[in-house]
Amino acid sequence: NRIVTTSFRSEDMEVENSLRPKKLEDYIGQYKAKEKLKIFIDAAKIRNEPLDHVLLYGPPGLGKTTLSNIIANELGVNIRITSGPAIERQGDLAAILTNLGENDVLFIDEIHRLNRSIEEILYPAMEDYALDIVIGKGPSAKSIRLDLAKFTLIGATTRAGLLTSPLRDRFGVICKLEMYNHEDLKNIVIRSATILDVAIEHLAAAEIARRSRGTPRIANRLLKRVRDFAQVKGNGMITVEMAKSALELLEIDPLGLDSVDRNILFTIVEKFNGGPVGLDTLAASTGEERNTIEDVYEPYLLQLGFIQRTPKGRVVTKLGYAHLGLPMEG
Ligand code: ADP
Repeated sequence: NRIVTTSFRSEDMEVENSLRPKKLEDYIGQYKAKEKLKIFIDAAKIRNEPLDHVLLYGPPGLGKTTLSNIIANELGVNIRITSGPAIERQGDLAAILTNLGENDVLFIDEIHRLNRSIEEILYPAMEDYALDIVIGKGPSAKSIRLDLAKFTLIGATTRAGLLTSPLRDRFGVICKLEMYNHEDLKNIVIRSATILDVAIEHLAAAEIARRSRGTPRIANRLLKRVRDFAQVKGNGMITVEMAKSALELLEIDPLGLDSVDRNILFTIVEKFNGGPVGLDTLAASTGEERNTIEDVYEPYLLQLGFIQRTPKGRVVTKLGYAHLGLPMEG
């Protein structure tokens, strides 16, 4: 029940939908991705063709689902949302594909988790808007090809390298979502506060932004917690003092690190003399999952420059030692 996790928590549900921007111009930050997408969206609209297939990748909570909804909205088409693990059989995907309307968007979250045999259905669907199905078994089996409506597939994943190359190669537009800077996150917090109808000092929004690990999902979650605090302890207005006390109570340090991050850093320093240590060994010694370390904790620690990836494993840097208040030996 980690508060600064980038993963979706049930408590996010209620606010996430109301806080989701609906138009590209309300989507804060990610200027490179937005600029690129705007051109492709406008071109597709002028030609009345489907947008090319889009792959969005980046750590969880950065706005991939939000952006996909915006793309469909800007195109003026319907969106169908599903995820890699939710599609269990070939028939499930075939049913989804045959139900798409002309130029619609199909969003597949965690697309790297699609089963390989299901993934193969996507190849002709993406390339020729066709569905190949086999009827019957044995020598009398026949393959027939069904035409599908022209559609846009938007795939989301944490790292582009998790996709097989045949799948990755079929995306015409590949966009990397970056962690947000403090200014953009501050604006996201202010925008969300307005929607939630809570007054907030700009300095308080900046304080929340600094501790949100570059991630809008965390920024919105922290805002909600701080709002509760301000309502109970104050008059509802989120002042900077109020924000600081609430965030300290949640044990989130001024950079947004919590006990799990500190444990990872301390483990590398104390058990492995600062590294290098391999990911599997690190996972075993901290009790965290390898994938979680790689997708959730590490991106932010790398971004802060507290750890480095070397061919031999992870190393804590001088900055990392300094943050822990420890001297760097040797
Ligand atoms: P992902 O699909 O990458 O895990 P989401 O699209 O679900 O992330 O985003 C999480 C939350 O963060 C959303 O509810 C949305 O309100 C907020 N959010 C994400 N990106 C932005 C943005 N660029 N501007 C404003 N809010 C955003």
